[in-house]
Amino acid sequence: KSAESVNYLKELNPPQHQAVTHPKGPLMIIAGAGSGKTRVLTYRIAWLIDQGIDPFNILALTFTNKAAQEMRERIERIIGPDARNLWMGTFHSVFAKILRYEGKALGYTSNFSIYDTDDSKSLIKTIIKEFSLDDKVYKPNYVLNRISNAKNSLVSWEMYNENPLFREEDAGARMPEIGRIYKTYAQRCFAANAMDFDDLLYNTNILFRDHLDVLNKYQHKFKHVLVDEFQDTNVSQYLITRKLAAVHQNICVVGDDAQSIYAFRGANIQNILNFKKDYPELITVKLEQNYRSTQNIVNAANSLIKKNKDQLEKNVFSENDEGKKIEVLKSSSDNEEGRAIANMIFEEKVRDGLHNSDFAILYRTNAQSRAFEEALRKLNIKYRIIGGLSFYQRKEIKDLLAYLRFTVNQQDEEAFKRIINLPKRGIGAQTVAKIVVLANEHRVSIWEIVSHIKQYIDGRAANAIAAFAELIQSYMIELEAGKDAHEMATHIAKTTGILRELYADKTVEGLARYENIQELLNSIKQFTDNEEVEDKTLPAFLQTVSLLTTADQEDEDGDHDRVTMMTIHGSKGLEFNHVFVVGLEENLFPSQMMLNNRADLEEERRLFYVAITRAEQNLTLSYAEQRYNWGRLTFCEPSRFLLEIDEQFLKLPKANKPVRKSFDDDNDVISSFGGARKSTFQSTSKAAPAPPSAKQRVLNNLKPVGTAKPAPEHKPSGNFVPSNPSEL
Ligand code: ATP
Ligand code: MG
Repeated sequence: KSAESVNYLKELNPPQHQAVTHPKGPLMIIAGAGSGKTRVLTYRIAWLIDQGIDPFNILALTFTNKAAQEMRERIERIIGPDARNLWMGTFHSVFAKILRYEGKALGYTSNFSIYDTDDSKSLIKTIIKEFSLDDKVYKPNYVLNRISNAKNSLVSWEMYNENPLFREEDAGARMPEIGRIYKTYAQRCFAANAMDFDDLLYNTNILFRDHLDVLNKYQHKFKHVLVDEFQDTNVSQYLITRKLAAVHQNICVVGDDAQSIYAFRGANIQNILNFKKDYPELITVKLEQNYRSTQNIVNAANSLIKKNKDQLEKNVFSENDEGKKIEVLKSSSDNEEGRAIANMIFEEKVRDGLHNSDFAILYRTNAQSRAFEEALRKLNIKYRIIGGLSFYQRKEIKDLLAYLRFTVNQQDEEAFKRIINLPKRGIGAQTVAKIVVLANEHRVSIWEIVSHIKQYIDGRAANAIAAFAELIQSYMIELEAGKDAHEMATHIAKTTGILRELYADKTVEGLARYENIQELLNSIKQFTDNEEVEDKTLPAFLQTVSLLTTADQEDEDGDHDRVTMMTIHGSKGLEFNHVFVVGLEENLFPSQMMLNNRADLEEERRLFYVAITRAEQNLTLSYAEQRYNWGRLTFCEPSRFLLEIDEQFLKLPKANKPVRKSFDDDNDVISSFGGARKSTFQSTSKAAPAPPSAKQRVLNNLKPVGTAKPAPEHKPSGNFVPSNPSEL
């Protein structure tokens, strides 16, 4: 055994030790950020294996595939390669795997397709059109959300249509047909032998409800069930875990109610409370010491989250250094914000010997990444953006993947619509719609029509479709013959004409697209070359790809030393030496959409809490005074959240000072806006009350200050567009 394997229990404080070595029965750890919850879960798995539990009998559910991967590697270093046999992954990936084996019971074949959000949206749009409804009234996103919420609450389309409550709600929202859309959507997915993301959970629940033999098998198999980030499980996920743990009762969940940030997706804090009711034998362990962050950061986070009424009692403390105060950075515009932060990173790297990967820039929405990208690129600082338009969402990649999907599953309606006229075969949208309608009318699959097209339509289009069917048929034969994923993908890329078409396109974009396809083929090669991958077939590859979460993106050139940029939602569980939380402005963060009731605002505050608690040594909170919003320059007010952190932990922005390019003359942040003075600063505080309270002083300090020009009046709501743009 390695040294690590002997020592891991020593790296735990007493309550952590108790949790790791808890012999059996339900266990819950609800504790603050950075208190070692994930570490406890990881070590507990190692410990269980040490106690003789077979890794095949342990199920561990994580928030991202990457988190699962890291956990597995850590465990492997402790107990050896046996760790590879653990059942570990996200809810979606684990249950997709089970559905591959067991989906027959529900009428799916083992090579069902997984519809991503784009596929789902496209199908919803098609249905809205077929029903001759107005997609300005029936917004596809809204409809999809409604259906998604229903599924996550285990409401089938039948139940949805029978329940007057839903009908009334939909009528109230002027969308009385949602029930009918749900029904058709569900039937079409089923006919396409496809499941969307919600179906993976919904169908698992149905499977376990209606097929007790299957449930029984897995209940006995999983002697231990462990869940990380338990606060963000929804009802559907909770029910699955509860059923799976029913026989052995060995369920261990870890989470933090203060970090629950997915209520909009149906995650429910109620799960934590119900857990106690469901398991009267429950042992709860409290972890209170934060090992991640400085005292300043922990105390600041505590002072913020106190403002939430809805939370469990917790006392988080840090025995790390007190640390620096939290820097509040003010910039005159979003571009300035990008430049100032890029400069800070550049300087800190030199001054403190930090690496790119020590820094993270966290924002509320993906669209905010642009200014930072530009600024970092100018300074030649490598970065990665997690969760933007990912590699697998690019058009040319989705096109080729659609061919692969259709080769595996010829009922896949969305893949079919993508590739039938690609490359161009002279098959118009009309013809495609007709095929789909024909399939529905005759209650047969799209493939049934396509492969016998001449029985249904004639003319030029019919010939083109027949040729397409022949092509697909040839792929099916190759697949049947046992070619692996890479052989299949290369063959298909070459023979469809996709590669040829991209190769002929000599524009810069065309070249990039060609390279992307090459890159995809490379990654498939890596997949088939990987010794740890048992199943190297095309269906197996497609499943891995379709379940990548946005936080799972890889660095394209394998260089891991990069500044990380991501939304706060994606940053759960991670930690960085220096974290920048940016765009702290009213209506941006908290988001305008979350201001209407207390519950939403509290969720937004928890999101800010998650952001703050990612930082180990340094935290910078940043806002801009002006920002482009839908193409218009608007004034912004600093976020209320800045005012909610106890002032003693903050270093507020100084009055404006000139740009400095060198960091030797002092350690202050380079504030890169122009040289206005204190007088300007005071002139902007509205009706100056005398004497101002401490709170008010902070407030004034945070208020936007004019740069060279006097600051225009702005409405408290922010987002005010000045009548005379030349003022800017
Ligand atoms: P989050 O709520 O953000 O998910 P967490 O509770 O899961 O946080 P971990 O990520 O497990 O916390 O731990 C936070 C950091 O503290 C990690 O770097 C971890 O290695 C370290 N840590 C945890 N426990 C100890 C300990 N007993 N001694 C030293 N370091 C520890
Ligand atoms: Mg964690």
